Amino acid sequence: MTRISWEKLTWSEIAELDRDFTTIIIPTGAIEQHGPHLTIDTDIFNADAIAREVAAKSNAGGKQRVLVAPPIWWGTSPHHLGFPGTISLKNETFTNILMDTISSLKPHGFYRFLILNGHGGNIGNLTASVSKIGEELGISIPALSYWQAITDVLIEVGESEIGGMGHACEMETSLALFLRPDDVDMSRAILDMPQQPTPWSCIDFRAPGFLNIPLDLKRDSKAGIIGNPLLATKEKGAKIFTAAVERISTALESMASLKKSELTTSRY
Ligand SMILES: [Zn+2]
Repeated sequence: MTRISWEKLTWSEIAELDRDFTTIIIPTGAIEQHGPHLTIDTDIFNADAIAREVAAKSNAGGKQRVLVAPPIWWGTSPHHLGFPGTISLKNETFTNILMDTISSLKPHGFYRFLILNGHGGNIGNLTASVSKIGEELGISIPALSYWQAITDVLIEVGESEIGGMGHACEMETSLALFLRPDDVDMSRAILDMPQQPTPWSCIDFRAPGFLNIPLDLKRDSKAGIIGNPLLATKEKGAKIFTAAVERISTALESMASLKKSELTTSRY
């Protein structure tokens, strides 16, 4: 059985890895409140679970070796601090953790990375961070949020009206029911549909609005939920998880054919 966790290898095993055929997935997420029914590790748990399955699938065939770096547990979640439990990093801290991770691995020849994100609130930061990494470290790293790879599947699977898949919602609760039902307390889940401040401020993984007024969950929700977790099922979770793993694995496969010169910047 090929090992997947970066931290479970020895330095000598890492030294032997073929840099041109080794991809390191860095899961990012958040430690933030997810309503009264889901645990605060929801986002990083999902990103890490998808990353591991993608790695397992990729390692099973082909000559690419995919490893999962220690997940970056915390993200930027200031909009969730109104509820207890959230641990939020400042934008600079989050960027610095990513920069320091790549800075540590780059001198040893690694240049194939994928950031697999599980927290919507990290997206803006990730865009800025990968730009900074390209500029300062010379490596081009895609950062994807798993739901963005499967919008069509979410539209097909979702039964809630738009607004029902926002946070601790039909999607995230379905994933939790599939991946770890013992961590879900459905007796505490409630319908908590967003009160859209404008018709264009929709918060939904399927159809995000274009006028995104920064959220404050304490202000914008009843119980830290945005959406309809009552429609969640483990069958939906299985479909969402499987689709995310398949799509991201396919994307990773196509990335494997890129040359080093296509993943490192020209730096003029
Ligand atoms: Zn979440």
